[in-house]
Amino acid sequence: MTAKSGRHFLQIPGPSNVPDRILRAIDQPVIDHRGPDFAALAIAVIAGMQRIFRTSGAIAIFPSSGTGAWEAALVNTLSPGDRVLAFETGQFATLWRVLAERLGLVVEFIPGDWRHAVDAGEAEARLTADKAHAIKAVMLVHTETSTGVTSDVVAMRRALDRAKHPALLLVDTISSLAVTDFRQDEWGVDVTIAGAQKGLMLPPGLGFNAISAKALNASKRAKLPRAYWEWQPMIAAGESGFFPFTPATNLLLGLREAIAMLEEEGLDNVFARHDRLAEATRRAAAAWGVEILCADPRARSSTLTALLLPPGYNADAFRRTVLERFDMSLGAGLGKVAGKVFRIGHLGWFNELTLMGTLAGVEMGFALAGVPHRSGGVDAAMGYLAGNVGAEPARLARAAKQ
Ligand code: PLP
Repeated sequence: MTAKSGRHFLQIPGPSNVPDRILRAIDQPVIDHRGPDFAALAIAVIAGMQRIFRTSGAIAIFPSSGTGAWEAALVNTLSPGDRVLAFETGQFATLWRVLAERLGLVVEFIPGDWRHAVDAGEAEARLTADKAHAIKAVMLVHTETSTGVTSDVVAMRRALDRAKHPALLLVDTISSLAVTDFRQDEWGVDVTIAGAQKGLMLPPGLGFNAISAKALNASKRAKLPRAYWEWQPMIAAGESGFFPFTPATNLLLGLREAIAMLEEEGLDNVFARHDRLAEATRRAAAAWGVEILCADPRARSSTLTALLLPPGYNADAFRRTVLERFDMSLGAGLGKVAGKVFRIGHLGWFNELTLMGTLAGVEMGFALAGVPHRSGGVDAAMGYLAGNVGAEPARLARAAKQ
């Protein structure tokens, strides 16, 4: 193994880099999870997550990966043989479908090409045709992390409303929460699924469900077998700051710090920062002449950008070159696009200069690996960012002239 100097660049679309402040918050002696300090912590993080999800509804926090939170959303709201509507946006939508089928649900999976967002019009037509209301839930992945495509949650809510369809709306925000605007209550989402390791900037290990009153009501009738994932005991214990089992105490210390950091910056500023850095990445791609996998510019995500290499060029070999030469991890292509795309994560604890380092590593990697491209991607991103640093470029420019 060669010795490495400087920080590793972890530019995969999650797990994202963990801020030093959060690492320090986690690095504490374990406390008694039945004592008063823990109760204060649990009450604070539940209230904080309500603000992040923009909901007044119940929150369940599991010591789990995002997959556990997917399962919890389904087993608490549905019964064996229930029909659900889902959309093939990419690998994660596909994995969620497989999980639902394993649980005994019947999934209507609307095919997709992995390059476009969900077509809400198509969903509306399907829901309108379902006069008997056989479909019990709609499963939507907000940002599909395998492709960098963001679907429109508001449009899906509208589709359900126009079709006058009572199905629950379940939304996976695992890679969009605290990156892209999301409003559980205002947008009429019934269960929001999230994970620790992306916009929340924590190490992996927490799964979240934000639960509407309608979903909570559905859970009283839902018959899928569940024990560990059961919401009711979690919600009941959570009211006094406890968990029905041993919680991930130190990750919750990290979560309290993450919420504080996001609120100090302001959620709207967090979203704007991600939008700006994503736009700079897209400008770099345009200058390189390398194709963005997401074919619809309006659906390009602020979490990550997936780039498609020309036929005959292997994206995994390119990633290997970048890792070996520059100690930077880029995201692999998954499922149907394995080896064809690589993904640049631009989420979480991330700023202009981190992005410039990342893009420089990509541009140098293209040259080293012999990937056809034009130079100038880094310059294009830099030019864009120099004119758009934060909210007040004009004031900064004036100050610099004095
Ligand atoms: N959904 C999305 C959109 C994801 O990006 C991921 C993981 O990256 C998952 C679900 C699965 O989460 P986990 O790997 O934490 O189980």
